[in-house]
Amino acid sequence: MALSQLARSISESPTLALNEEARRLHERGEPVIHLGIGEPKNKAPIAAVLAAAAKLTDGDIKYTPADGLPSLKKAVIRYTDDCYDRLVAPENVIICSGAKQAIYNLLFTILNPQDEVVLLAPYWVSYPEMVRMLYGVPVVVTPEDGTFHPRMEDIERVVGGYTKAVIVNSPNNPSGVVYDESFMADLVDFCERKDLYLILDDIYHKLVFDGRTPPNSLRFSKRDLDGAKIIVINGISKLYGMTGFRIGWAVAARPVVEVMTNVQAQTTSCPASILQAAAEGALTGIQSVTDSLRMTMENNRNVALRELAALPGVRTVPPGGTFYCLPDFRAYRGDSVVLARFLLEKALVVTVPGREFGMEGHLRLSYAGSARDVVDGIARIRWALDPNAPEEIYIGDRKQVRDWA
Ligand code: PMP
Repeated sequence: MALSQLARSISESPTLALNEEARRLHERGEPVIHLGIGEPKNKAPIAAVLAAAAKLTDGDIKYTPADGLPSLKKAVIRYTDDCYDRLVAPENVIICSGAKQAIYNLLFTILNPQDEVVLLAPYWVSYPEMVRMLYGVPVVVTPEDGTFHPRMEDIERVVGGYTKAVIVNSPNNPSGVVYDESFMADLVDFCERKDLYLILDDIYHKLVFDGRTPPNSLRFSKRDLDGAKIIVINGISKLYGMTGFRIGWAVAARPVVEVMTNVQAQTTSCPASILQAAAEGALTGIQSVTDSLRMTMENNRNVALRELAALPGVRTVPPGGTFYCLPDFRAYRGDSVVLARFLLEKALVVTVPGREFGMEGHLRLSYAGSARDVVDGIARIRWALDPNAPEEIYIGDRKQVRDWA
């Protein structure tokens, strides 16, 4: 069939194939443990549910302005003031159908064909694909020291005449690493000196552990927001565990928001009004949901690190936030897709191959589920990989004996 070459070149995600296989196994009644999930298990905050229900019963469900409901923008302005200490105008805010759409619209707004976008490995899987969808060129910077923390000199080395933007995601999906403040200050300064766009994907910024305050790298900008090329992306998906509501936003200079609004108006018209009402409910309701999510994730992180420490040869950089970690499994297998497949087949555990994030030899494990799943999932991984682990294990109510390794 005559399909677009560019569209066809967009990678099929190995994760989706693994998830599909896991779903099939689960449907057959197999006791699959999912350490691949990218969302917490909580129920949506009651304030969000009530606000959406009120909008629905009201029955007046129409298009909203393309850049979002003014009352939701007001809530985002308050959020930005509270978390970033910046009082922005409604013209600096655009509401989108998820942070993902905000990032895509933004890249559409700033990129010309062949423009380069610097990505810091391990990176979120969608960044390189989105850049390529817009005829841009992803340029990946990989830390060689195994820390998952980028170095300024490596970024400076790849920036040239074609560089248009740098994308930063800290706390980071997939490693959970939170970048140092001094690094972020240097990066903001560097991008402002080089006149580059700096996209701060702050979707996990409140999910930070060990008493840390959520990062606010906007404060390192020396420019007025309307003259700045720094953009903050955020949303309700991880903040409130409201992934299915699909609401995110961008805070940026007015000319950027203006063009993003035109792009959005011509593609999706506006985000769904009921979901915007839900987001407003969440942002203006009791904020303890966010704290309790953070505490649950911190506890699960501790459990994951404790269990992973029992896996000989596996090195894990302790996550400072998110609900992911990215252990190095090269002691067992170099090919992360083969390893993830093996673990699903033998131990019924879903993981995500590090190759997807530019970190071959690693697996992303999510601890967004229950602590029990984390313990049992990692015990199964150990059983499948470590020749010194006991040969027998119960998977569900079936006793399994390892006859490999
Ligand atoms: N950025 C990162 C780094 C993410 O991990 C995700 C969700 N997995 C998103 C953006 C997209 O979030 P949303 O659900 O708001 O589109």
